[in-house]
Amino acid sequence: MRIPVVERITKANDQVAELNRELLNRHGVLGLNILASPGAGKTTLIEKTVPRLKERFRIGVVEGDIATNMDAERTSAAGAVSVQINTGGSCHLDASMVRDALNQIPLDELDLVIVENVGNLICPAAFDLGTHHNVLVASIPEGDDKPYKYPRTYRGVDALIINKTDLLPHVDFDLDKFKRGVEILNERVASFPLSCRTGEGLEPWIDWLGEQIRRTAAAKP
Ligand code: MG
Ligand code: ZN
Repeated sequence: MRIPVVERITKANDQVAELNRELLNRHGVLGLNILASPGAGKTTLIEKTVPRLKERFRIGVVEGDIATNMDAERTSAAGAVSVQINTGGSCHLDASMVRDALNQIPLDELDLVIVENVGNLICPAAFDLGTHHNVLVASIPEGDDKPYKYPRTYRGVDALIINKTDLLPHVDFDLDKFKRGVEILNERVASFPLSCRTGEGLEPWIDWLGEQIRRTAAAKP
């Protein structure tokens, strides 16, 4: 039987993803895959999150970007062990890129690994990286229609950050319309409206993440 090429790629990716997840589980390390369009605030969210957790947990960051290591420098300055993956033009990360990055960081010494995916709302959602949770960073300036336009991405996430809420008074963004769009696709998603700039709303997100880290550590074999 001939298997279509796309299906074969996805299957091979899923096998590597499963191995990544087993590796993280063996070390009791929680893995997050952060998705967003460019400019939504993925790196800024990581920069604001790391200092709030680093007294309690040790954190690694895998930075996916088409070029440059600017983001890895930022997350490293925030206090995380950071590794840069340059995808060389590819618009998403896949499980083998993440496997190579995980081999470069000391998992024995970590509690959390945050993977910052390439800024793109389309294909990153199709590639399981072997992390435990997908986290989507949406932001107010992108507009309230994004759940309707990118249903696959919104459907596949476990947590949703709604960033830049400080801009709500300045732009036409109907929060109820946005939330309705999310609810239709994904009613169990944990939502965190917040502003990385002002710090407002960060606490519930930090609490949620801390709880996920503790659960994964407790399940360590
Ligand atoms: Mg970034
Ligand atoms: Zn892609």
